[in-house]
Amino acid sequence: MEKTVPADLEKRIGKLREELALYQKAYYVDSRPLVSDLEYDRLFDELCALERDNPQYADPNSPTVRVGSDLSSDFPEFSHTIPVLSLDKAYSSQAVLSWTEKSIEKARSDLSFVIEEKIDGLSMVLYYEKGLLVRAVTRGNGFVGNEVTANIRTLPSVPLKLSQPVDIVVRGEVYLPKDAFEKINSTLEEPYANPRNLAAGSIRRIKSSETARVPLTIFCYEGFTDDAQFGDHIQILAYLRQLGFRIDPNIGYFCRTAEQARARLKEAGLENFVSGSFEDIPAYIQRRTRERGGLPYEIDGLVCKVDEISVRNAFGYTGHHPRWALAYKFEAPQAETRVLGIDVQIGRTGRVTPVARVVPASVGGSTISNITLHNQDYVDQLELAIGDTVAISRRGDVIPAVESVVEKNEEGNTTWRMPECCPYCGTALVRRGGHHFCPNYSCPMQAKLRISFFTAKGQMDMEGFGPETVSLLFDNGYVRCVEDLFDFDFSRLGGVRGFGDKKVAMLRSSVENTRKASFRQVVTSLGIPEIGSKAVDSLCDSGLDSMDRLLDVADRRAVDELLAVDQIGEKTALLLIDGLNDPNTRNLIAKLRSYGLKMEDEKNTGNLSQIFSGQSWCITGSFESFASRDLIVRLITDRGGKSVSAVSSKTSVLLAGQNAGSKLAKARELGVKIIGEEEFLSLIGRPAGEEKPAASEPVQGELF
Ligand SMILES: [Zn+2]
Repeated sequence: MEKTVPADLEKRIGKLREELALYQKAYYVDSRPLVSDLEYDRLFDELCALERDNPQYADPNSPTVRVGSDLSSDFPEFSHTIPVLSLDKAYSSQAVLSWTEKSIEKARSDLSFVIEEKIDGLSMVLYYEKGLLVRAVTRGNGFVGNEVTANIRTLPSVPLKLSQPVDIVVRGEVYLPKDAFEKINSTLEEPYANPRNLAAGSIRRIKSSETARVPLTIFCYEGFTDDAQFGDHIQILAYLRQLGFRIDPNIGYFCRTAEQARARLKEAGLENFVSGSFEDIPAYIQRRTRERGGLPYEIDGLVCKVDEISVRNAFGYTGHHPRWALAYKFEAPQAETRVLGIDVQIGRTGRVTPVARVVPASVGGSTISNITLHNQDYVDQLELAIGDTVAISRRGDVIPAVESVVEKNEEGNTTWRMPECCPYCGTALVRRGGHHFCPNYSCPMQAKLRISFFTAKGQMDMEGFGPETVSLLFDNGYVRCVEDLFDFDFSRLGGVRGFGDKKVAMLRSSVENTRKASFRQVVTSLGIPEIGSKAVDSLCDSGLDSMDRLLDVADRRAVDELLAVDQIGEKTALLLIDGLNDPNTRNLIAKLRSYGLKMEDEKNTGNLSQIFSGQSWCITGSFESFASRDLIVRLITDRGGKSVSAVSSKTSVLLAGQNAGSKLAKARELGVKIIGEEEFLSLIGRPAGEEKPAASEPVQGELF
């Protein structure tokens, strides 16, 4: 084989990186592709291969980092070097106008104002040194944020290398476009309330390859640098664009006269912005408010900024926000009501959730009387007390939320505090992370919920065990835990009120039928947090398909083995290990085993016809109907075929999904048979859409 001279190799890698960076910017930042997808894929694949084979040329700023990695990224804290404050808010265009007037008065000179969209995303601070991205940090509390650099590097719209070798700190908003949100959310077991939460969850993935799968993007809107001097904000925006950042095109610019605004935009090279005079501001705000629904992303308001940098410096900051900017917040469907009380609810895992009981109020057409408050931190942020009048909304038109306190109560109630003890069992609550828990495993409320969970549809699906029956069995001392279901002699219920012969027979056969439940159901029924049916499918499909194998992984705390499983992130892996090592879970497993429930996954490959016998299959591109590549490989090997990673003249079939690249071209060149996803589905005798596309395990969005 011909050996490439190292100097040539380095040159080739450098050239590929340069070209691909250019193509990525053209596609993701400028929305003006320079080459075909096929050509792009070809170059991208070539660079991936060269980098893989020549690790000495690794570079964290290579365009190939866009696909992310399975290396664990942790999120160390980082103290911001610039103020990352929130904005003062206004709720009417009149308030915005009077703020502009006051600002002009205070500055004692004519000012200009920039009105930007307030993207409903995740605030991000990007740190560049000599033109290279060195750090991406969340806003955090405004002073200290979390470093999420590895994950942010996967966003194709974030430049890894700027067009100039400058030191600059850039603020931007990471967001998920609405259509991508709908598509991803529809595949999730626990859908997110809005694109922002999904974006936040994705940015905090442990594997950056998981972040890379979510099509996040960014708009940048502030730059801080000593390497250049600017008179005004629009010059900064023009500079950011020149450096390679993606700038929101929907920006308005307003001066004393419309002519002035037009001329200055032209000078800055930003003619695509809307220009106008101060008199045009209210109409502009109204139009943007009206038209916001038609945007491909969500905005929750507009931001009005003083354009002149010298005035900004003179105005400065309060402890909370800059004095030179004001957020105009759109009103979500809202109502005002009063908090009658705050109850605590306990979940199956002991987690305690405060819930506000409010005077029933109609919001966006439905009546709301209970609103979750999530945890103590959330209550503290609102400074919410019983008796307060609050503004409530349905965020993303789904989940009711308390937005703010409108008026404090007159009874002198102070901010609500979590009770010291569990209201159901009296055990002192403990705090873990942001949440409080009742640590008593025998807590009656938790025990009932565990029994209900075990018997419910989706788990053991046991007929007759509705919440009332479970309560009755529990309160009478018949069934105090899941294990009791298998020991209790249901015939003892004869004569007990509410338990006729038919009902008793049903309960008995439901318990006996648990032996017929699949192993996957059994694992899901253990009730380990985040180990739902999707996670269990992934575990089984990757070979962790018996209780003994799972327990062995847990015994060895083999996190790495779990991380190798598709869809399992570090958080889920640790929850699984801890869950399986919990003595209570072990007791339950022992009981289920002794009663004869399935302890391994049934394989039914034996009766599949070996239609692919002797064939070698190569797979390329992405697929709608399969959660993972591994699954397709299994479907092929179960039918006698084998899977190969590269196309050669010996390859029997190339299975080509969407965005297939160099392998497709190679197969065409060699005359290898090529089939698409639909044809493959019909070959294996399955209708399209049976398997859902890749779904990530749900991660709670964080409040920023
Ligand atoms: Zn309790």
